[in-house]
Amino acid sequence: MLRKTDLEIYRAIVAEQRKQRSVINLIASENYTSKAVLQAVGSVLTNKYAEGYPGHRCYGGCQYVDVVEALAVKRACQLFGAEHANVQPHAGSQANMAVYFAALKPGDRIMAMNLRAGGHLTHGREANFSGQLYRCCFYNVDRESELIDYEEVARIARRERPHLIICGASSYSRLIDFAAFSRIAREVGALLMADIAHISGLVVAGLHPSPVPWCEFVTSTTHKTLRGPRGGLVLCRQQYAQAIDSAVFPGLQGGPLLHVIAGKAVAFREAMKPEFIRYQRAVVANAARLSKEMAERGYRVVSGGTDNHLFLVDLRKSGLSGLEAERILESVGIVVNHNPIPYDPLPPAVTSGIRLGTAAVTTRGMTEADMVQIAEWIDVALKSRNHQRQLKELARKIRRFAHEFPVQA
Ligand code: PLP
Repeated sequence: MLRKTDLEIYRAIVAEQRKQRSVINLIASENYTSKAVLQAVGSVLTNKYAEGYPGHRCYGGCQYVDVVEALAVKRACQLFGAEHANVQPHAGSQANMAVYFAALKPGDRIMAMNLRAGGHLTHGREANFSGQLYRCCFYNVDRESELIDYEEVARIARRERPHLIICGASSYSRLIDFAAFSRIAREVGALLMADIAHISGLVVAGLHPSPVPWCEFVTSTTHKTLRGPRGGLVLCRQQYAQAIDSAVFPGLQGGPLLHVIAGKAVAFREAMKPEFIRYQRAVVANAARLSKEMAERGYRVVSGGTDNHLFLVDLRKSGLSGLEAERILESVGIVVNHNPIPYDPLPPAVTSGIRLGTAAVTTRGMTEADMVQIAEWIDVALKSRNHQRQLKELARKIRRFAHEFPVQA
């Protein structure tokens, strides 16, 4: 049908589908949803307006979408052990915004991990609304260990007296001690928010400690390790439920995307199954193996390894920037993103590092043995950067290999 009505869009979708099958995707924030999630997101629920919440909508005819949203909320609470969930945020950024709107006034102070140490734009970057509406201060990772230094976090918190402390990151490969953050927040009288956009799949599988007992607010995306549709989620204690719901609607969004909320509900149910725990174990094992194999080939892995689904590679010794490495790897069909390493001397658009993650390749069924092969190909590609023939030959091999692992469509 689409082919007949809009050939240009049809062709772009088919090309993207073909590309997704023929590359090795190591983007740490991406994944492939199940067919059931795709079906929910592509359903007629997209036709329905439903501003408000189940049972309290601004539109008639919401009886079926109410079922969908109520199930999504119930499953989210069950999955994370949370008192309250709001599943309406269109994305992770809106989930964070909802917490700030519920907990802060413009001009209040927030404290978060520096973007260049692994934090996220919405944690106070000046180019983002969070940096414009709030006064921000940041903690870093330790220069030597490249780990969060909780003593230093406490010192900054005592000095800056933030209203809200944010923990959670986009490119931090080690366990986060939410209990330690909670002690610091209590001491300085701050509220605590954990942004587990990256690690939420690991958290529900019990492979990373949960922030839920320690934080007033927990936010997440639903499309990374959690393997749902593109979207956001806020969990909070019951006492903040009303404030969070009002912050999302009418505070910052209009009609919820019920087709996406249905996809979230399906993904939450999938995440309750034993297969999901097995999948997350494989994600972590693959990341550990890939980082070890990179280290054995002479690459410095930031902090010396990983506890989760991702890690950073410092490329300074190889004389390549992160951006150059990203481009070389893309030319052979290995997709990664350039990423600052802690205290990176290069600007964010160039960087000295790349970020590698294993959530997507593990969904396709790749194992530790495949990680050995992938590390070898990354090494060969980066070393063959001036040898076009070798790169072309490698690209052919990688395409053949990738096609052995299916992608749901
Ligand atoms: N928070 C963290 C830690 C993230 O890594 C991301 C996205 O990468 C977000 C929030 C924002 O999510 P979205 O891109 O859905 O707005």
